[in-house]
Parts: sequence; structure tokens; C-alpha cells
Amino acid sequence: MQPRPCPNQPPSVYAPRPCRLLSVTDLTPQEKLFRLQLHDGEELGHLPGQFVQVSVPGLTEAPISVASSPDRHGAFDLGVRRAGRLTTALHALRPGALLGIRGPFGRPFQLDALAGKDLLLIAGGCGLAPLRSLLQYCEDHRDRFGVLHLLYGARSPADLMFKEDLQEWQQGECFDCRVTVDQVPATGCYDGATGLVTGLLGDLDLMPHRTVAVLVGPPPMYRPLLEVLERKGIAKTSIMLSLERMMRCGIGKCGHCSIEHLLCCQDGPVFWLPEIEYLRGAL
Ligand SMILES: Cc1cc2nc3c(=O)[nH]c(=O)nc-3n(C[C@H](O)[C@H](O)[C@H](O)COP(=O)(O)OP(=O)(O)OC[C@H]3O[C@@H](n4cnc5c(N)ncnc54)[C@H](O)[C@@H]3O)c2cc1C
Repeated sequence: MQPRPCPNQPPSVYAPRPCRLLSVTDLTPQEKLFRLQLHDGEELGHLPGQFVQVSVPGLTEAPISVASSPDRHGAFDLGVRRAGRLTTALHALRPGALLGIRGPFGRPFQLDALAGKDLLLIAGGCGLAPLRSLLQYCEDHRDRFGVLHLLYGARSPADLMFKEDLQEWQQGECFDCRVTVDQVPATGCYDGATGLVTGLLGDLDLMPHRTVAVLVGPPPMYRPLLEVLERKGIAKTSIMLSLERMMRCGIGKCGHCSIEHLLCCQDGPVFWLPEIEYLRGAL
């Protein structure tokens, strides 16, 4: 059953808005990029770091971060890894299909706090999808920021997401963009850096007092990165990270995504490090 557009009704945070799938692009063997447009022609109205609850009619829904800047008008992107029921169904859809979207929800990256600073933007694996929204924003508002470092690590060359973007960012003037992969298969041909993303920080020349670090990646990435950032002199109050938790409502009602007294869906998913570092199970 396709979701029906309902004119003359105010949008409800519980009701999915119909959304048209414009295009689907392979990013890696397990991740695809979906370009979407709200059926009513309105802009999504998100900020970098926010997520939407995506539903395929008749199935469940799942939180997915918006992977494009709010300033790229007319459509928005989601980078989705095939994980379970919903995302497998999403991967099977073709352009023209209708989906449901609730949101945008959650606390975004704090753009005011980033303005005028050097940014150290670090993504691991699928974390490049949420960060891409901020990266595009930085590209579109280059004069608002100081030096922009982008460090990205994936498991293997095949797992690198957004390869075309990465190539542009590496060749362009906007970012000091460095990429690494954990390992290269014996049969593989890859002439880039290898090793964990923490290794990219080693010879990076930073001005700690004017740098804000933004981390988005799988939970095991955070502790080792935080240790290196501390050695580099980056203050905890200048470190922002995005967390993922199992979620249901996305609007702070069900408590499914709680991290002690905080709700990841409303107080996050973006947190400053001091807000969460001592909470049980946060990192
Ligand atoms: C704020 C937020 C933003 C997200 N952004 C993206 C994104 O941009 N792209 C993307 O591909 N995925 C993203 N995710 C993760 C995505 O929501 C889950 O993978 C979701 O479970 C997929 O739904 P499913 O029905 O396909 O899989 P399910 O059937 O729900 O689960 C598949 C497997 O993933 C596990 N799982 C479910 N949720 C999570 C979670 N939050 N963290 C770790 N493991 C989980 C389950 O235990 C199960 O093993 C995000 C999650 C959050 C909370």
C-alpha cells in the first residue's frame, strides 16, 4: 500500500509524510545513496546532524541521518547500509517509489559553536553519511570556518563510501582531506594510506585552542580517538560526537534510546563530550 498524500491536514510528528524516491546510487556493496523529495514539494528543513524516521509502507521504520546540506535545495540524501528488515526493503526500491518520512528530529551539529573555528571532522565507516551534511554545509559557507581537516577511515577500499565526493574533496581547496583503510585484501590494488583513522592524526598540525573536533563513527572508534585528541591538546569542551542508539519514536516519548537521563533522539544524537563521557554505556 502506498502512503496517501493528505492535503489540508497539519503535519503530525507521528504521521509519515509521503516522499518520492528520485534516484538510487550504489555507494559500496552494502550501502546505497537515496535521493528523495517530499511529495508536497516542501523542503525537509533539517540542519546538519539531524535524522529522519524512514518507513516503507507496511513495514517498520528506522532512523537515518540526512546526508546532504539543507542549502542544497529541492531534494535530500540518505546514505543507507543494508542492516535488517527496513533497510533491506529500502535497498530493493526503484526511483519513483513512495516512502514515509517523519522528522527531521534530534539535536544537530552546533553550527554557531563551529563558526570561526578550525574544524577537525573525523568519520569512520557509515559515519561519513551524517557528516556529509556538515561537509557540504562547510563547502557552501567556506568563509565561515578556518582550516577544515577531514579524516575518514573505512575497513577496506571497497567499503569507502562517497568515493566521488572524497576524490573531489581531496583534489579541491576546501578540505585537507585524508583517507585510510584498515586493510587491503591480498588481491586488491590500492595506493592510499592504510591503518586506523587514529593514525591519520599523527602528523596533523593543529592549533588546539581554535580547533573543534567532530566525530561520527562506530562506537569502538571513539575511545582511541579521544585519547589521541587529548594528546593533541584538544579540550573536551571542543569535542562533539554523534551517537547511535536503538530508537522507536524519535521524539522523546518512548524512552527506547535512553543513555541514563538523556534521550539520544532529543538530547542527541549530537552531544558535546562532557555531556556524556561519564554516562554508563555512552561510549
Ligand atoms: C540517529 C541515528 C542515525 C542513523 N543514521 C543512519 C544512516 O545514516 N545510515 C544507516 O545506514 N544507518 C543509520 N542508523 C542506523 C539504523 O537506524 C539501523 O541500522 C536500523 O536498525 C536499520 O533498520 P532495519 O530495520 O534495517 O534493521 P533492524 O532489523 O532494526 O536491525 C538490524 C541489526 O542492527 C542492529 N541495530 C539496530 N539499530 C541499531 C543501532 N542504532 N545501532 C547499532 N545497531 C543497531 C540490530 O540489533 C540488528 O542486529 C542510524 C541510527 C540512529 C539512531
